[in-house]
Amino acid sequence: MHEVDMTKCLLLAMEDWKRRHSPAVPRVGTVHLLVGAFTCVEPDQLVFTWKAAVQNTWLAGAELAIEPVALVGRCVACNATYQPSAEEAYRSPCCQHPMEEIVSGRELKIRSVDYSLEGCSLEPASPSLSPCC
Ligand SMILES: [Zn+2]
Repeated sequence: MHEVDMTKCLLLAMEDWKRRHSPAVPRVGTVHLLVGAFTCVEPDQLVFTWKAAVQNTWLAGAELAIEPVALVGRCVACNATYQPSAEEAYRSPCCQHPMEEIVSGRELKIRSVDYSLEGCSLEPASPSLSPCC
C-alpha cells in the first residue's frame, strides 16, 4: 500500500501549501506530479487513491497529473550514464557494473499546481512548492 502513504504525504504537502494562502482557500484544478520510474509507485493506483482521498475535502475534484521520470543510472566504472533495466539486473551495458548511482528516477514531487483564488484580491505572488517527502 505504498500509494496510500504517498497520497497521505501529498495531502500533507498540499495542506502546507494551502496554509500559505490563508485566509483564502485556493481552488485546485490540477496537481502536476513528477514520479520517477524507480519509486515503485504505480501511477494508476496513485490517481485512484488520490481521488478517493480528496473526496469531501477542500481538494475535491482536483486532478492528479503524473509526469513519469525515466530511471537513469551512472556507471561508476566509466562514468557513462545509461538506462538500467530490470532484465539486465540494472547492470551498466558498458561495463556490466552493478547499479550504484542513480541520476534520476527517484523523484516524487509536486512540480506545479494549477489553481485559482476566488474572492481574494490581496493575494501575494504564487508560492513555490517544496518536494513532497
Ligand atoms: Zn561503464
